[in-house]
Amino acid sequence: MEGSQEQQLPSRRPRSATTTNWAGNYAYRARAVHAPSTLEQVRRIVAAAPQIRVLGSRHSFTDIADAAELVSLAGVLADVIVDREAMTVTVGGGVRYGELALELGREGLALANLASLPHIAVAGAVSTATHGSGDANGNLATAVAELELVTSDGRVVRAARGDRDFDGLVVGLGAIGAVTRITIDVEPAYQMRQRVFEGLPWDDLFEHFDAITSSGYSVSVFTRWRETVDQVWLKSRAESDTLGDTLFGAVAATEHRHPILGLDAVNCTPQLSTPGPWSERLPHFRMGFTPSSGAEIQSEFHVPRRHGVAAIAAVLGLAPRIRPVIQVSEIRTVAADALWMSPQYGQDTVAIHFTWAPEPDAVRRALIEVERALAPFGARPHWGKLFLAGADEIGRRYERLDDFRALLDRFDPRGAFRNDWLTGHVLGDDRRRPAGSLADG
Ligand SMILES: Cc1cc2nc3c(=O)[nH]c(=O)nc-3n(C[C@H](O)[C@H](O)[C@H](O)COP(=O)(O)OP(=O)(O)OC[C@H]3O[C@@H](n4cnc5c(N)ncnc54)[C@H](O)[C@@H]3O)c2cc1C
Repeated sequence: MEGSQEQQLPSRRPRSATTTNWAGNYAYRARAVHAPSTLEQVRRIVAAAPQIRVLGSRHSFTDIADAAELVSLAGVLADVIVDREAMTVTVGGGVRYGELALELGREGLALANLASLPHIAVAGAVSTATHGSGDANGNLATAVAELELVTSDGRVVRAARGDRDFDGLVVGLGAIGAVTRITIDVEPAYQMRQRVFEGLPWDDLFEHFDAITSSGYSVSVFTRWRETVDQVWLKSRAESDTLGDTLFGAVAATEHRHPILGLDAVNCTPQLSTPGPWSERLPHFRMGFTPSSGAEIQSEFHVPRRHGVAAIAAVLGLAPRIRPVIQVSEIRTVAADALWMSPQYGQDTVAIHFTWAPEPDAVRRALIEVERALAPFGARPHWGKLFLAGADEIGRRYERLDDFRALLDRFDPRGAFRNDWLTGHVLGDDRRRPAGSLADG
């Protein structure tokens, strides 16, 4: 490939950092990985490939990012441009939130929210509607003000909030084009505090769910589905911590904690109510340290907020069967939005997350039960995590799916960005599957 480095992936699938996702549970089957350094190279690579996907920071847990050819944007258009009048920042799609936070810190600026880890690339996170927590906080895609995309014919397309297609493009599942630049809302930098409360009785969670999730700017409930809820993490933007030493029946921790009990809290952001910058309190995990356990598979399901307590109770009913394979679950809240393929489209949600042991067969068995239990609540899976439901089921839960399908037909008429994951879980039977795709062997 002219002007770019092309790296051949071995045809067999060794578990190595370059050929598997972060978790190591998926080995990419792509025949080539491109690493362009200019926009012009991205355009030529995309236009020439029969089937292609952008590979982000590889933190998804499935084949969502796989295709016959992959292109990494980590080394392209990475400069950070702040617009103080518009209060936005524009970055390359391959930039990680942790890197962006450092730049914003120097400018005295901040983002409204972050995921549990700063390690993930901005465009990959946004494409899958990655989220943090907070009753009033939308997912990370809701902060996007403008996108620059390279479409499958090599054109550069820009869309801004308010444009006709914008709400369909942002959570694009990697299927619209290569997001080369992304503009995000910023606000003045702020300080936060984080506290952990331990041993919340289940009855308290069920009876006071709204009071608990609204007791901080961002609240996460961690449980292994045992006798009590293990931990509640409260992230507060208040100047001073007005909380007492108890939160209903839970008691404030007196030491730093890891969400997975027994793991070293050195990997985690500071707690114990010590004030610090937004970027060092909103994520649970610190840049430069392993997030979560490092040996795991993750799944997550979003249910409408009005069904949140019933959905949590339904999963608690499965406790004896999921406990053997669970490391921890996290329950968060995410505000409604208008982005067509966002799990929060038109509804405030409660997110029920599972960090499983790295045992694919046992996880599959547990997922059958979890998905059956959550189906009556219209659960929408996290696009970047492992789920089993196929397009027939998922499609019914997305009222703008036909509009999204039409958008794909317009932006990618030759179907270069369509892959097996998209066909299997979102589009169903797909007449535009590209020739030369992985499905052709
Ligand atoms: C330890 C851990 C913790 C996590 N915590 C959270 C959390 O707190 N909240 C949450 O919601 N999720 C969380 N996730 C999930 C994660 O945020 C998503 O899987 C996200 O998609 C990862 O982004 P990525 O760039 O690594 O994705 P990849 O797996 O590289 O790509 C994901 C998708 O985005 C597409 N894509 C990537 N870059 C581009 C681009 N420039 N243009 C177009 N498409 C692109 C890919 O083609 C693919 O379809 C976590 C994952 C891990 C491993």
